[in-house]
Amino acid sequence: MRNRSRKLILAALAGVCVGLLVFAGIVVGRNTIPEHETDLHEMLHKAVPLDDNEKAVLEAKERAFMARRGEIEAHLRVANAELADAIAKTPQWSPGVESAMRQVEAAAARLQRETLIHVFEMRAGLRPEHRSAYDEVLLESLRRGAP
Ligand SMILES: [Zn+2]
Repeated sequence: MRNRSRKLILAALAGVCVGLLVFAGIVVGRNTIPEHETDLHEMLHKAVPLDDNEKAVLEAKERAFMARRGEIEAHLRVANAELADAIAKTPQWSPGVESAMRQVEAAAARLQRETLIHVFEMRAGLRPEHRSAYDEVLLESLRRGAP
């Protein structure tokens, strides 16, 4: 009886920790990095007044980027769920946890890379005289570390 209740407590604790880790994975994967990038992304969108042609070019690039981002975010959610499963199976550092963690890291890195590619394609869609204002916002934000 005592042994059984101890097991239940341990199971509950493990559940809480997995929840926290998944939350951490989601924070790392979905908030810290992308929100930083998204804030920057929003700032860049507002950095320069766009003419109609620039708006049309950027809207098309925007739709393509949103599709890529949605796909990567779906990978990230799957990776987070697999990390949770791996931790539930072995609640310590293990080859399974390591491998699941690498999937989370890979998806987060891909999201950052795609965002930066989009930042450059947005710049390429601007008229040359609008690019220096854009660059200023980009560089200042990156150098500050967090917008
Ligand atoms: Zn954009």
